[in-house]
Amino acid sequence: MNILFASSEAVPFSKTGGLADVSGVLPKEISRNENITLILPYYKNETSPNIETKKIDSFDVIINKIKYKTEIYKKRIDKKFNVVLVSQDLFFARKFIYSDSSTAYLDNFCRFLLFQKAIINFIVKNKIRYDIIHINDWQTSLIPILSKYSKNFKIFKNSIFILSIHNLAFQGVFERYHFKELDIPDHFFSPDYIEYYNKINFLKAGIIFSDSITTVSPTYAKEILKPEYGYGLDGLLKKYSLKLTGILNGVDYKIWDPKNDPLIYKKYSIETLINKKENKIKFYKEFNLPFEIDSSLAILITRLSKQKGIELLLNSFNKLRREKINILILGKGDSSYESVLTKISKRSKKIKFLNLFDEQIAHKMQAAADILLMPSIYEPCGLTQMYSLKYGTVPVVRSTGGLEDTIENHISKTQPGTGFKFKSIDSNEFVLTIKKALKIFQDKNEWKRLQLNGMSKKFSWASSANNYLNLYKKLLKKEKMNERID
Ligand code: ADP
Repeated sequence: MNILFASSEAVPFSKTGGLADVSGVLPKEISRNENITLILPYYKNETSPNIETKKIDSFDVIINKIKYKTEIYKKRIDKKFNVVLVSQDLFFARKFIYSDSSTAYLDNFCRFLLFQKAIINFIVKNKIRYDIIHINDWQTSLIPILSKYSKNFKIFKNSIFILSIHNLAFQGVFERYHFKELDIPDHFFSPDYIEYYNKINFLKAGIIFSDSITTVSPTYAKEILKPEYGYGLDGLLKKYSLKLTGILNGVDYKIWDPKNDPLIYKKYSIETLINKKENKIKFYKEFNLPFEIDSSLAILITRLSKQKGIELLLNSFNKLRREKINILILGKGDSSYESVLTKISKRSKKIKFLNLFDEQIAHKMQAAADILLMPSIYEPCGLTQMYSLKYGTVPVVRSTGGLEDTIENHISKTQPGTGFKFKSIDSNEFVLTIKKALKIFQDKNEWKRLQLNGMSKKFSWASSANNYLNLYKKLLKKEKMNERID
């Protein structure tokens, strides 16, 4: 099987969130069994990693009659796994990936159309036959339709297109006047295809023209069929629900395991949980935090967006005033949240805010903390809570999407679960659940049982990759049967 995995970000090349974690590890896992190429934009800025690559191709990509010189680079990871990078410095050599602080780049239509057209050109020019073309989110959602109208559509004749939705709220919606730049027949600008309230919707095109759709947890796969979670596409997804499945993400334990994490102060595991405390002590010292060592430390490591339940958090601060809890937030995102958290952090001795995106600090915080707060309004999968489990940091989460699927509620001593869940989008319920956690925190034995239970859970990528491989095989078998019928 020959697979192409197209994504707009992947660790260690680029990252703004969970998509990068998934794209960094899933292809690697799949390559244990099959040939796979990960294709990414070649972002360049001062924080880009220094990874040696080799130029393998160059061609012009034409958008609106303008020729953009585009180069293709390659990094061979191992025998069955290659990374291909689409280089176009005008579009991809920038400080950020999608947006400058909270405003999306105005030329995102052109940037990600170029990326997708370049992928098609690369396949056509080099005559590469892929059995599976696995696309991810809106940034690669046009590939199925663009391939049908490419110069050599026959090369794609036997390719199966799979779309993975990592967050339905991001759809790639652009003004209608761009439509001609897609170079596809006019009739596709209709509500039956890629028109969305008189605009173009990339993700809609992916949903319609892919052979199969996956999303990143079974619960989210059900939720997105409802208007509350569907972001205007629930009706369309319902129509195509037979091709929709939920496959839970996993954790890359090579990166996220306190037993061998080089980024934390003191390594620990189930057997040496006692060493976790040293991480808290050293973290407070390094970051000069005025927190009491025996009070609980609750953390958030998050994009600061409405999705993540930041309003619930802000409304909970006052109600937690008298509790023995310190809250530390690591986050970047909406400027309004950044400024209110900065103000609170200056005033408060118990709430601190690090307005950064910093991987190393994220690791140190997971190791130092007692509790992770994740009051998400919706959460397609969520990785942070799974990392927390491994670090013995107990999650308090809203039961939605992947949070529902990965966290087991604490019920009693005999049913310790792995964390604490609440249902309503309501700060009182959130606070009550935090208080429940704080009560158990006082009972060191019960707390330890909860930690150990979480640390023993395994969300391995091997099992997720296996689910994807089974899906690929099933679709290829179906394709072969159809051919015979044809
Ligand atoms: P999402 O993809 O919706 O942002 P996930 O929980 O799936 O949320 O993944 C978030 C990833 O991004 C995790 O690896 C988390 O550690 C990381 N992350 C989020 N915010 C920050 C930050 N401010 N600094 C460092 N890492 C962050």
